[in-house]
Amino acid sequence: MLVDSHCHIDFEEYAGRMPQILDVMARNQVSHALCVCVNLIDFHRVLALAEGHTQFFASVGVHPDQGENAGPAVDELIERAQHPKIVAIGETGLDYYRQEGDLEWQRARFRTHIRAARECGKPLIIHTRDAGEDTLRIMREERADEAGGVMHCFTETFEFAQAAMELNFYVSFSGIVTFKNAHAIKEVARAVPMERLLVETDSPYLAPVPHRGKTNEPGWVRHVAEEIARLRDTSLETVAEATTANFFRLFKPS
Ligand SMILES: [Zn+2]
Ligand SMILES: [Zn+2]
Repeated sequence: MLVDSHCHIDFEEYAGRMPQILDVMARNQVSHALCVCVNLIDFHRVLALAEGHTQFFASVGVHPDQGENAGPAVDELIERAQHPKIVAIGETGLDYYRQEGDLEWQRARFRTHIRAARECGKPLIIHTRDAGEDTLRIMREERADEAGGVMHCFTETFEFAQAAMELNFYVSFSGIVTFKNAHAIKEVARAVPMERLLVETDSPYLAPVPHRGKTNEPGWVRHVAEEIARLRDTSLETVAEATTANFFRLFKPS
């Protein structure tokens, strides 16, 4: 069995498609998926998915790409994280690629999430783009290692992965690892220890080969796992077993 550790299937493009999504998951032996929150306004949507389906868990957080005034306060995160199907805080982090100007608000929001995660004892889901140095610096300053978590949709160097693993973090690969020209990421996917690996789709984005360009969905995480198995010269079963065990060890869903 496989688990999609990061998807956004509460987005509008999936409206009315839940039966098919569950069917594709079942046919690909994907037992669970984590529905990741990007804004408190839409938290009710990921919560409804998690409450309505045994296959889904959810998180609470405000994405760094959400505008400056989207909050949240530490207490707002902790309060929502009390629900038994909320297994993580995020997604949070830094994105210097899609946002411009003085991004102090983004760093402050990231610190808020780390504080909430430490306080409620749930792991963090971290997004980082063009901001590697600041991401690690803030993780260290705020003692993110006490919460642990995952660096999602990994696109950084192996050195970055090592630094994150030293801080108690897992490394999650998306469909990018299946792209022909993603040589550097393929190398990292080969080198990260099996006990720190996770797989994800980041649906609706980044559909893996052979579905590139389409609306991604959790069942297709199988292609990510297959490519990692190929890169590491091992079986799909080995990658599935390890990444699923890692998911349950990290997120401890009840
Ligand atoms: Zn992300
Ligand atoms: Zn995401």
